[in-house]
Amino acid sequence: MVRQDKDTQSKADARVRPNIFYCTFAAQTQFVLMERIAVFPGSFDPFTLGHESIVLRGLKLFDRVIVGVGSNDNKQPFFSPEARVAMIRDLFQDEPRIDVQYYTDLTIDFCRRNKAQYMLRGLRTTSDFEYERVVAQVNQAMLPEVESVFMLTFPEHTAINSTVVREVLRYGGDVSKFLPARLNIQRYMPR
Ligand code: ADP
Repeated sequence: MVRQDKDTQSKADARVRPNIFYCTFAAQTQFVLMERIAVFPGSFDPFTLGHESIVLRGLKLFDRVIVGVGSNDNKQPFFSPEARVAMIRDLFQDEPRIDVQYYTDLTIDFCRRNKAQYMLRGLRTTSDFEYERVVAQVNQAMLPEVESVFMLTFPEHTAINSTVVREVLRYGGDVSKFLPARLNIQRYMPR
């Protein structure tokens, strides 16, 4: 009777074991497949050499970088959302790990939608830091699962700033030194 019970038990175990194996395998597969996704949000009006550097450095830390082109209610953009998305997409067209999207809602909702675990930002100056600190702490309170990651800009990019680039462009100046080498800004200029 006891033996019979054992047999019955071992048959039951055999039936269960593949499921346990499957669960373990599934968990491992899920672990292996879990990508590190970072959102790099900004106005990118226009996308500069400083922005490009942050994205490329981000690729060394993350599996995917999603450049989130945001709408800023406080600023009337010089380049349309379509032009900003197009200039960044064209620039990174050969890099499948970079995605570019326009969004109009909260950055944390954009992160949630894209299943991003990280929010990437660049820091040039102490005033950048003070601004970013407040934004990151508010974001952290609203969505603690998303970690803000800051990268110090390279010294040669510290002075590069989209506002200044826009001003020079408005007066027909040459901004090529401040933009990624492959970005032909004239293609995206407002008509
Ligand atoms: P936002 O309106 O969100 O400040 P920006 O396009 O100005 O959008 O900047 C997007 C991000 O890129 C911010 O984290 C900003 O600090 C960073 N950034 C801007 N210019 C540079 C630069 N020259 N070097 C490194 N990071 C930069």
